[in-house]
Amino acid sequence: MTETGINGLKEYINTHNRFLIIGHIEPDGDCISSVLSLSYGLRRIQKKVISAIDSQCPAIYEEFQPVSQITFEGDICVEDFDAIITVDSSSPDRMGKYQGLMDKKPNFVIDHHVTNKLWGNYNWLDLEASSTAEMVYRFLKELGIEYDPVLATINMLGIQTDTGFFKYTNTGWRVMEIASELIKQGANAPFNASMVLENNRVQEFYLLSEMAKKIKITLDGTLIYSFITLDMLEKTGCTYEDAAGLIGELRSIKGVETAILFTEMDKEEIKVSFRSKKWFDVADIAIEYGGGGHQRASGCTIYQTMDQTIDEVVNNTKKRMETVNY
Ligand code: 5GP
Ligand code: MN
Repeated sequence: MTETGINGLKEYINTHNRFLIIGHIEPDGDCISSVLSLSYGLRRIQKKVISAIDSQCPAIYEEFQPVSQITFEGDICVEDFDAIITVDSSSPDRMGKYQGLMDKKPNFVIDHHVTNKLWGNYNWLDLEASSTAEMVYRFLKELGIEYDPVLATINMLGIQTDTGFFKYTNTGWRVMEIASELIKQGANAPFNASMVLENNRVQEFYLLSEMAKKIKITLDGTLIYSFITLDMLEKTGCTYEDAAGLIGELRSIKGVETAILFTEMDKEEIKVSFRSKKWFDVADIAIEYGGGGHQRASGCTIYQTMDQTIDEVVNNTKKRMETVNY
């Protein structure tokens, strides 16, 4: 439960040799980028590293050649490492099945989520960081690691995706300076952008079209929500993974402050994604349901039917939006 900052991480690296680096389930670009860059950097200083995520690799990242170094849903033997580092993960349940390893070896948490309660034995939490990938960059520089175009490109990915390609409010001068450094060192930013933004399957558009038919707009146009059922996924040839980008489409609509997307993972298992634009804190509401995230992007899973979940979450959000002072 100690916040040791970047110096604590340095000491942790110096006092161990074989690391297990874990990213969160349902990995996003920042998670994959942080796992890969930290693993790459530590191998450069002759550390042994296993990199693991307890989910399948999202289809768009399969062509990102370095991901072959990550074990997706693999079994990890506790004898094969001395110390754990988790990246971009705000709570232990985000480890999936690797959560069980946490009390077997020491663990160090590197994260930037406001909902993180310092759940590691050691923690470096930077709420000002645009992304965990930005923290990894600062750490590798601190260690004096030389960047090459491969490391620069994988490190750049998380900075690009977590800032919405330099659009979100976490895009400050510091992250722009780091991005500039990474590009000087050979980061192929257009490759990353094209991989993430221009790699949609046409089925995702069919799903978008189905989801659009279910849109509800309320609170004078400031709250928008919609849902995706298992039937809609089947009809359009999609998996829940294909739904990940659709919440952004809801938020993009004029006048909307808060967007909510409900995705049916199972009959009584609903994944809820929240996004906001300017003033509504969606981290707070996700925490209420055992989830987490950031003020402008958060999520949780609720174990009820779709109807019950929509009813409860929409009413709760309405109440919160109506009473908030901003
Ligand atoms: P998304 O809606 O894209 O799944 O997630 C948005 C943000 O909320 C991400 O930063 C993600 O880490 C966080 N998040 C989403 N679902 C959960 C959850 O179930 N638990 C926690 N702790 N964070 C979540
Ligand atoms: Mn992140």
